Amino acid sequence: MSGPGNVGSAREGTPKGSQSLGAPPPLRLPSRQSPFAKRAARFWRLAEDNSSLAGYLALMADLTDAQHSLWEHFPHTLLPDSYTGGPPLDISSRHRDPTWREALRLIAERLDSGSEPLTALCERIRGAADEELEHWAARLLSADFEGIDPGLAPFVAAALQANWTSSSARLDLDKFGAMESGHLCPVCGSWPVASVLQTGGSVQGLRYLCCSLCSTEWNRPRIHCIHCGSGKDVAYFGLEGAGEAVKAEACAGCKTYVKLMNREKEPFVDPFADDLATLGLDILMAEQGYERLGFNPLLIPGS
Ligand SMILES: [Zn+2]
Ligand SMILES: [Zn+2]
Repeated sequence: MSGPGNVGSAREGTPKGSQSLGAPPPLRLPSRQSPFAKRAARFWRLAEDNSSLAGYLALMADLTDAQHSLWEHFPHTLLPDSYTGGPPLDISSRHRDPTWREALRLIAERLDSGSEPLTALCERIRGAADEELEHWAARLLSADFEGIDPGLAPFVAAALQANWTSSSARLDLDKFGAMESGHLCPVCGSWPVASVLQTGGSVQGLRYLCCSLCSTEWNRPRIHCIHCGSGKDVAYFGLEGAGEAVKAEACAGCKTYVKLMNREKEPFVDPFADDLATLGLDILMAEQGYERLGFNPLLIPGS
């Protein structure tokens, strides 16, 4: 492990090469053309480059391709008129669009390759009653992983992500008022999967957290702990020989970390795909006594 290194000052300076093209957006909604095609391409690329995780990353690429194929599947999901009084697509709201279950069954049909153990998982999904699917969704959305089979979780998460992301992509940015965003997604209230240092235009060099469920990104200052807000004890850890694109931004004060994906180092870096391709970094951070903030629903903690 390299680091800790690059301990930064508490103040965010103007990044080199930034252009003044207006104030950066506090919120970036996912592309209306679906973010899943690009993500699947990144998974395929990482599967080619990563011999020890190739089979796993290729399965995740297939799963993300399935999410992309479902993009036009939710045109009738109701969106709120007003975005005041909490996240507009709040996960704790009692109304879950039932079409996510159909999406999950379609994913199970598409991914059933006829080989074990995938076929057994797909059959289990297709044979489950609505109530059981809703139970899995509730557990996953409340980050209560006890009540869900770790093998099923990525498929359930993928269907929920497809549903939520297609909804967040259709929201109207102008309807959001001034917001105080913290470490939870301002659109749905989920944890972030990771953070991304962006490039280009008004977002050059800025850090955005990426929602683990709806793929919305929200701006948070660089070199500040996402959890406790301190900029005093922030350090960066990386895997030896793994390049500079993915680091763990860790706070020695509260012993938490979040991954930071740097688009200047790797323009195609993806918060979900590159997270799963750098699981070694999570293992090393755990060994150092750091707890990860947020999680990747495609791989629930402890599985
Ligand atoms: Zn969200
Ligand atoms: Zn902290």
